[in-house]
Amino acid sequence: MSDCIFCKIANGEIPSATLYEDEDFRVILDLGPASKGHALILPKAHAANIYEISDDMAAKAMILAKKMATKMTEALKCDGFNIVQNNGEPAGQTVFHFHMHLIPRYEGDQVGI
Ligand code: 5GP
Ligand code: ZN
Repeated sequence: MSDCIFCKIANGEIPSATLYEDEDFRVILDLGPASKGHALILPKAHAANIYEISDDMAAKAMILAKKMATKMTEALKCDGFNIVQNNGEPAGQTVFHFHMHLIPRYEGDQVGI
């Protein structure tokens, strides 16, 4: 989608703080982090939400979320971890390109998600 900001970021047309990249995904730091290390998994192919993404990409995204959560927990020494994925405005989705939030949690933090 030509006017989708996450398509542009995922495909490298707009620079981003990238933690990981492969042929299907880019993982970037969130511009407005809910906690230290808050990152987003972006598929390179556009899908607006969970309803549009293929089963194959949904499975790959979850496997990548597991890997990232494990590595980030080691690197950041966080105490817990949220994996969040919003669909539709009432659910809090603001960017309509499927993404998964990787949110490191720290003892006593006040993150509201
Ligand atoms: P949503 O509310 O759609 O689940 O999450 C969108 C997330 O994308 C928010 O946490 C917001 O801070 C982040 N975000 C929005 N625009 C940009 C951007 O241009 N770059 C980055 N890195 N994050 C963004
Ligand atoms: Zn897109």
